[in-house]
Amino acid sequence: MYSLFDHEALEAFRTEHKRQPYRIRQIETAIFHQWIKDIDEITTLSKDDRKLLSDTFDVIPFTCEKILEDEETTKFLFRTTDGKVIETVLMYHYHTNEDTGVIKLNRVTLCISSQVGCAVGCIFCVTGTLGLLKNLHRTEILAQVIYANNYLKQKLGKKEDGSLWSVRNVVFMGMGEPLMNYPNVKKVCEFLSSEYYFGLSSKRITVSTSGVYQGLEKFITDNLPVSLAFSLHAPNQELRAHLVPMAKFYTLDKLMELMDEYVRVSDRQVFYEYVMIRDENDTDEVAHQLGRLLRNRRGHLNLIPYNQNPAIDLHESDPEQIKRFKKIVESYDVTVTIRQNMGRKEKSACGQLGYEAAQEKLKHATSDQPKQ
Ligand code: SAH
Ligand code: SF4
Repeated sequence: MYSLFDHEALEAFRTEHKRQPYRIRQIETAIFHQWIKDIDEITTLSKDDRKLLSDTFDVIPFTCEKILEDEETTKFLFRTTDGKVIETVLMYHYHTNEDTGVIKLNRVTLCISSQVGCAVGCIFCVTGTLGLLKNLHRTEILAQVIYANNYLKQKLGKKEDGSLWSVRNVVFMGMGEPLMNYPNVKKVCEFLSSEYYFGLSSKRITVSTSGVYQGLEKFITDNLPVSLAFSLHAPNQELRAHLVPMAKFYTLDKLMELMDEYVRVSDRQVFYEYVMIRDENDTDEVAHQLGRLLRNRRGHLNLIPYNQNPAIDLHESDPEQIKRFKKIVESYDVTVTIRQNMGRKEKSACGQLGYEAAQEKLKHATSDQPKQ
């Protein structure tokens, strides 16, 4: 099967079957502006043409197995054709009108996965406990966005201005390390930012990385029109290598040099992500070190209260300590936000993706143990 996201394949198909060039635009409009997930929904084509097309092409190369929902999030569990589970999360941001107290949905962010599992193995992340199971193909990454937009169309319909509800921000903060699947991630970023396809601005697409040196070098050279989040988690090499095992190979000094180069080349700031784990990386002393590391650098620090889960014996920092930590870093003239937690109930929060798969793995591991 070919993917309908593959413009060249579609063009070749059109030529072979002697159809008019404008047919391509019709098909791509249906996918990228009307968010159809089935070829049969392309009503601008005849029934016969739809049948012809669906013998060769598909739109969504996976099946949706489960949808878990709470007020703040929708989590999708997709099954790939080779039997792996991808998790994707919609996050709903609301706005409260201060005068009337009316709460309204303001925007929707989509958290997408670039791999199944992850090789980096951060000690605080469920996805990391799986190891790397698969790099996702660009069509499997793009289809997460189309599927989510299709879902929003069904669930929310049109906004007050008459346009369809759709994802406003896309973040590569689901499963996997995007810069270890760079060619596919690059292609997806190009689709997302292209006016012809999704038309999202650079502020609305964020690639988050734990700091993969070679991947970052390419990312900077290509100067993709997207924002960069660097999952820092520690202000010194020793603590970082403890939390992010792969950091042993990519030293912090070198990575910070790359961050400076990124700012120079892209003229954008870096979003530093910092998971707050009790007694691991949340002391006053560490906050001072972090302040010294980030002062005079163009960036913004997000403190993320650690999302706990039963598979890992770590704890969320005390909320008072997070506030104290923030104040200390701010005293170095660094801008800091404490990220609100979303989706903890449905295990849809950062670092909780892969939860289902990790539970399965744990069950098998225990049942495989020889009986005493
Ligand atoms: N691999 C990339 C992107 C996916 S992880 C990266 O590490 O940046 C997305 C974000 O979730 C990262 O900032 C990561 O540090 C954070 N995260 C992972 N586990 C978490 C947990 N248990 N609680 C809170 N945030 C977590
Ligand atoms: Fe991989 Fe990111 Fe999880 Fe670390 S935090 S294991 S890099 S997905």
